[in-house]
Amino acid sequence: MTFCRKVLSRIAVTLLVLAGAAANAEGPPTPEEYAAHVGGDASIVPSGQLKIDNYKMQCGHRPTVLDNQLDDYGAAYPGFLILNPKLMSRISTPVKLWIFAHECGHQFRGPDEETADCFAVQRGRRQGWLTPDGLEEVCKFIAPAKGDSMHVSGSHRCEYMRRCYDDSSIR
Ligand SMILES: [Zn+2]
Repeated sequence: MTFCRKVLSRIAVTLLVLAGAAANAEGPPTPEEYAAHVGGDASIVPSGQLKIDNYKMQCGHRPTVLDNQLDDYGAAYPGFLILNPKLMSRISTPVKLWIFAHECGHQFRGPDEETADCFAVQRGRRQGWLTPDGLEEVCKFIAPAKGDSMHVSGSHRCEYMRRCYDDSSIR
């Protein structure tokens, strides 16, 4: 499974459904609209209040929606992040922090996966939560992802992330 791949298609579907539900709605949903749309136990964590394994998570001023029904570990809409706590509970701390940082990377750097990966590992190194061993855990996590015409494979993403991690000049 490529991280974010399924989510991007889901976002498109969700946007269509939301647009149909509210004919006047334009642009991405608000966190409140998203949480109301998915229903269930989705909840909104205001910026600055999210903690993952005792690490305080921050992505500018953006809130995070916790959604156990999300069909991936994380996702990003312009303006907020989405995490699936149920899936996140099964992975190690550095991988969890990397996922949050990757989704945050989409907020600031756009939809490109490699750019979001690079943003995440450079932030992790700078903030001290991503060691070289942690990076290898991230690589194992995304290794099963196979490339296709639209997406680079997990191993290619890892090569790029290792370069980013080592090279502070890459942005
Ligand atoms: Zn992504």
